[in-house]
Amino acid sequence: SSSEASGRIIGVGLGINIWTGRPYSQRYYEILVKRRGLPVWHQKEEFLQVFKANQTVILVGETGSGKTTQIPQFVLEAINIKTTPDKCKKMMVACTQPRRVAAMSVSRRVAEEMDVTIGEEVGYSIRFEDRSNARTILKYLTDGMLLREAMTDPLLERYKVIIIDEVHERTLATDVLFGLLKQVLINRPDLKLVVMSATLEAEKFQSYFDAPLIKVPGRLHPVEIFYTENPESDYLDAAIQTVVQIHRSETPGDVLVFLTGEEEIEDACRKIMKKVANMGDKVGPVKVMPLYSSLSPAMQQKIFEPAPPPLKEGGPTGRKIVVSTNIAETSLTIDGIVYVVDPGFAKQKVYDPRVHVESLLVSPISKASAHQRLGRAGRTQPGKCFRLYTEKSFQNDLQPQTYPEMLRSNLANMILTLKKMGINDLVHFDFMDAPAPETLMRALEALNYLGAIDDDGNLTKLGEIMSEFPLDPQMSKMLVVSPKFNCSNEILSISAMLSVPNCFVRPKKAQKAADEAKARFGHIDGDHLTLLNVYHAYKQNNEDPLWCYENFINQRVLKAADNVRQQLVRIMARFNLRLCSTNFNSRDYYMNIRKAT
Ligand code: ADP
Ligand code: MG
Repeated sequence: SSSEASGRIIGVGLGINIWTGRPYSQRYYEILVKRRGLPVWHQKEEFLQVFKANQTVILVGETGSGKTTQIPQFVLEAINIKTTPDKCKKMMVACTQPRRVAAMSVSRRVAEEMDVTIGEEVGYSIRFEDRSNARTILKYLTDGMLLREAMTDPLLERYKVIIIDEVHERTLATDVLFGLLKQVLINRPDLKLVVMSATLEAEKFQSYFDAPLIKVPGRLHPVEIFYTENPESDYLDAAIQTVVQIHRSETPGDVLVFLTGEEEIEDACRKIMKKVANMGDKVGPVKVMPLYSSLSPAMQQKIFEPAPPPLKEGGPTGRKIVVSTNIAETSLTIDGIVYVVDPGFAKQKVYDPRVHVESLLVSPISKASAHQRLGRAGRTQPGKCFRLYTEKSFQNDLQPQTYPEMLRSNLANMILTLKKMGINDLVHFDFMDAPAPETLMRALEALNYLGAIDDDGNLTKLGEIMSEFPLDPQMSKMLVVSPKFNCSNEILSISAMLSVPNCFVRPKKAQKAADEAKARFGHIDGDHLTLLNVYHAYKQNNEDPLWCYENFINQRVLKAADNVRQQLVRIMARFNLRLCSTNFNSRDYYMNIRKAT
């Protein structure tokens, strides 16, 4: 048959998918051709050899070289596993991602590459959403989810190989996994670990793990850098101007713009579209696409669509313009980018241990980040990177590396997780970059204040239950005590609403109406009760999409909140925590909620 023939040409045996037993689809072969051109494929044999001979391997390669999508498939091939459900124990491959979006997007892509259905052989697991089943042999999951799994399965026995990806991001969960896995590897000689990074600090990981390092050379084309002459007072405005300028005067090629968050990105997309529309038919058509974490998966997928064709034959070519948070810095690779616009900022977690306040602040990126951003422009041909800051500022103001999250986070949650796993001696825990003892102390104090640990630092019964909720300690404490205040139903709704993105929609054209709608839900006692009012109104209106639209509420977010709430209810049930409410007409209704929060 023809699939057999094409199968033999590209070396995949008889053309039968070993996972499904069905012949491979046409699409499989189309993607395979692309896959085989990725840099990691040139070192497949080398990787497999080193992988087989060692318990731990470090792999470093430029973004876009095929690490995240291909290496897990190489690993599956090397360990030769079966899909029969009862053999799944100890047999899965895990690949962690710091970002939810990457876990979702990449797993979908890999399912397509392997010609299987997402959620079956290839799945993903992120907080509050598990798309995997008994057949799953390759699971992409956030580093935080793997950490949670380790709470109930300390030796991670369901896995045969664990791949920790994007380690250069140095998220809190990844750093904690490092220390844990070092220990697990000693106790599980049959377990293998692959550590993958986008070039930065490779030697540091190598010496921490004492493992061989494979380098995948990128095939980066030269990228010309342009700095601004003077500092920009409004980087958003400057970014929009730059994009328009590129579209007007640069040769064909797609554009990637880095901004810091949803609102800013949506605003920029609208303004860019408007300005391009005003330029008439002298310029080619554009597709302007936002990319940020709370975007729906379907919208996220759109960034991989090609640029639009010219409006008429021989007319100016079209351009794709992606406006993204730093998700596009290393987590997701978009092909065809030739121009990068880098204003030099990102939202980053900042923690003040003295007042226990953790916040996301727009702050300058590091030199390493700026370098990664620049690299996005040179993947397929020579590119240009427009830095919206001065060269002097780049040299003098930017830190060399992004600070590990461990050193700028509230550690209470992490400590609770470690204690649940029986790891009490945090001072001697093998952190790659140990947090300051003072920060550890403050986190321990906070947990002690919440009653999660006793004065000797041991986990209390309350702390044990709290650790089961995938929430911040403050919030899980609230939930656990809420039945005592006769308001667990309400606290559940509030926690769920706080666990999803902002539900209020504020379109540029209807800001006043949107603000008025929001004010109708407002409660003088603050945001928590406002969110509760929104949730109640949504339920009272039978989750009606039209009601959501008219009240400037994002229905998808409310649906997500409902789903989160159900999952929290199940955890409550496991610990026999009562679901109850104070009578709404009672004077104590809001009072009790405030007591619990
Ligand atoms: P790395 O992890 O080394 O950065 P990836 O494995 O993520 O590289 O990407 C390899 C290639 O797969 C890139 O060319 C990227 O554009 C492509 N790719 C990844 N996800 C998708 C997707 N959802 N749709 C289309 N192409 C994708
Ligand atoms: Mg990757």
